[in-house]
Amino acid sequence: MDIDGGSQTDQTNEVASAINDSSESNEGEQQIGFADMDLSRDMRRSLERAGYEEPSPVQAGVIPPALDGYDVMGQAQTGTGKTASFAIPILEQLASPKDIAGVQAIILVPTRELAGQVREEFEKLAYYMDIKTTAIYGGHPIKKQIEVLKNGVQVVVGTPGRVIDHINRGTLNLHEAWCVVLDEADRMLDIGFRPDIEKILRAVTRKDRQTLLLSATVPPSIKRLSTQYMYEPIMLDFSNTNVSADTIDQFYFTVDRKRKFALLKRLIQREQPHQAIVFCRTKRGTDRIAQQLSETFDNVGCIHGDMNQSVRDRVMKKFRDETLKVLVATDVVGRGIDVTSISHIINFDTPEDCDDYVHRIGRTGRMGREGVAYTFVSDDEGELLTKIEVRINRLLEPDAMEGFELKVETPVEYKKERVAAVAAMRGRGPAKHRRRL
Ligand code: AMP
Repeated sequence: MDIDGGSQTDQTNEVASAINDSSESNEGEQQIGFADMDLSRDMRRSLERAGYEEPSPVQAGVIPPALDGYDVMGQAQTGTGKTASFAIPILEQLASPKDIAGVQAIILVPTRELAGQVREEFEKLAYYMDIKTTAIYGGHPIKKQIEVLKNGVQVVVGTPGRVIDHINRGTLNLHEAWCVVLDEADRMLDIGFRPDIEKILRAVTRKDRQTLLLSATVPPSIKRLSTQYMYEPIMLDFSNTNVSADTIDQFYFTVDRKRKFALLKRLIQREQPHQAIVFCRTKRGTDRIAQQLSETFDNVGCIHGDMNQSVRDRVMKKFRDETLKVLVATDVVGRGIDVTSISHIINFDTPEDCDDYVHRIGRTGRMGREGVAYTFVSDDEGELLTKIEVRINRLLEPDAMEGFELKVETPVEYKKERVAAVAAMRGRGPAKHRRRL
């Protein structure tokens, strides 16, 4: 785990460029497989049991250097297999509780839902290992969590606020932890967790700490975090494997703001989605739309941050077991949802932040499955659409439903601007998988 100077850096570059080559490989060329990785027998059996035959590009990229103890910063979003990309190397490096009695790895995530999902993934991959994992997050009784922590766990997954709470109470001690993962780091910073994250990073005091950071986007705030708290991280960029994934068809409707709800109903009737998430900007809007939709459709649910945890858990359980067909959600809660059977994403409001768009559509088309995303654009949201298209380097295709056309046609000039802006981006060519930041 100790990392020292120059020769290691050379090795770092070697590892990274080998991975770079493999993840950029064309069809027919060999990508690194699980068999090429230095994995234990138990891990191989767990992978087999989970049905993971080959690593996803993120896993092929992150697992080998992480197994070697390097700090890794991966640009990737959920739906790409990123959880296993850090869970596998952590599980493989865990010391026996006889050698390290305390918590060995702490995984920080932005939402309660994601905490549960990450813990489940750990449990799946540790199926043949004697390892204890727990998830700690707000909204669940702290006493139970204290009890579990007291009995000894090796891996803790938690939201930053609740983790700090436990540290302050003295019920979570991270002095023996050798690994910290910041999962969906950009979103954790977006929702104001920066001070908590820094406090937690400072609480993990081992000098040979391994820090892994996964983020869908790399704004300057993330770069600063990595410079301050990571040791010569290997940078891997998998964003072009998922941002405008070929498996996701992306359309937009221009629609009068007041007619968005009627369009939503018609679209659901037309598409008959297997499962859909409808994204809204506000919690109130989310409630209202879910309420109105359920007057017409069965199996509609709603999830946002103002709902109490047990209700959120119930809704997610129903969505996961496919009892719910349509889930109306806000970004913060919706973005971490990992349900592979989602066939449709509907952006009732055009996202104001292009990264939110990327996160939202990432809820479908997961692990290579097909998905479709529709974005409703009212006349004051046209510029947002252009920003999104520039960000994903692709034009969304127009769709139309009779009776819902905007009275004022999208001006020709405006269309030209969109095409020009996106063409300019295209001229730059695809982003490199790995780039020094
Ligand atoms: P994640 O991006 O970590 O949220 O993973 C998305 C989904 O893909 C989860 O349901 C994982 O269980 C599943 N998954 C992860 N890695 C693999 C793999 N190598 N093969 C098949 N499924 C996978």
